[in-house]
Amino acid sequence: MPGEILRIGFGEDIHRLEVGLPLIIGGVQIPSPVGALSYSDGDALIHAICDALLGAAALGDIGTYFPDTDPSNRGCPSSFFLSHVRRMLEELGGKICNIDAVVFLEKVRLAPHIQEIRKSLSRMLDISINAISVKASTYEGMGPVGEGLAILARVVALVSFPADKSFHH
Ligand code: MG
Repeated sequence: MPGEILRIGFGEDIHRLEVGLPLIIGGVQIPSPVGALSYSDGDALIHAICDALLGAAALGDIGTYFPDTDPSNRGCPSSFFLSHVRRMLEELGGKICNIDAVVFLEKVRLAPHIQEIRKSLSRMLDISINAISVKASTYEGMGPVGEGLAILARVVALVSFPADKSFHH
């Protein structure tokens, strides 16, 4: 559309998995014997979404705003990070066109939870569920993800901004 520019962003996040920790993906707690080791709640999908959205606006990454050296971020729900990023985009007039994500996880089946994760993200971002794609995949038994030692999320996001917005920040 005239008067708009579209910008793409990419985000990736990986967390170690350990027995007895909660596994939270897209704000949804998934029944699992292992969960993500993290300073926050370890929601790799939300962290990758934050980085993709920040990337579309060339605003750095989640660690810039919520460093893991800051004790106030300890145990922080990732929904808090996402709402902060959402506000940053809104200040630039940014509107999320769509998000496409892949979550790599061995052993725990994500397929039964995909709809709930999409709904959760749709609520957090106040965008249509149709604008949020979440896919589940594995690493075919290879490497730390394949051995069930880590969860990996990769996300692309497309964001439209008013064409007159300056990105000279
Ligand atoms: Mg992370």
